[in-house]
Parts: sequence; C-alpha cells; structure tokens
Amino acid sequence: METALWLTCFIPNRMGKQQSMARPRSVNIEDDGILSISWMDGTTTRHSMAQLRKECPCANCKIEREKLSQPGPILRVIDSSAPALKEARIVEFSPVGRYALSFVFNDGHSTGIYTFDFLRETALES
Ligand SMILES: [Zn+2]
Repeated sequence: METALWLTCFIPNRMGKQQSMARPRSVNIEDDGILSISWMDGTTTRHSMAQLRKECPCANCKIEREKLSQPGPILRVIDSSAPALKEARIVEFSPVGRYALSFVFNDGHSTGIYTFDFLRETALES
C-alpha cells in the first residue's frame, strides 16, 4: 500500500517534466536554405538546411563522419557529394513521436531523426 502511494506521487512528476519540453508549433521552409521552427514556448529558431544535412544524426552518416575525421593513410577524394551537401535542402518533414522531427532532403536522404533538443542546441545564432 505504501509503495503504491509512493508511485502515484512520483510518476506524475516525472511525466510532467517530459511534457514541459518545448515542442514545435510550426516548421517553415524558407527560400534562403533556412528552416525556421516556432516553438510552443514562443521562441523561434533558425537552422541551415545544409548544416542539418551535414550533421545528420543517422547511423550511416555518423559512420561516414567518423571515417572522415580519422587521421590515416586513406586518401579520400572529395567527391560529388560535397557540392550536393552544400546545397542540401529539406523537401519534406514529419514529426517523430513527441520528441523529434524527421526530414527528407533533396538528395533523397531521410533516415535522420532530429530530436527537439538537438535542433535547439544546433540552431543558428539569430
Ligand atoms: Zn544520415
């Protein structure tokens, strides 16, 4: 009986904390390669789409970035993906649960899950 009471006291608190996390109210793709997000708390953040593509948090891109950052004898030709990345644009987006957004980029890449925390941390200085 005491244990049950304890649980009912603490679980709502923990849920409350999660729900207070700011969520996007609206997401706008702007003309100049910028994605802007209006958050429930009234703030707006701006994001470079090229930067978001470059920092894609999916497993494949993480592995690619690790390869690139490793010093070693491997010579990597700067291939055609470089200019494509520079001009990366988001063509579609959709919410993932209540914690993230997923984007479809113009190169067809769509496996990255961008958490709200990540987006707020990586926002451009306004
Ligand atoms: Zn990726």
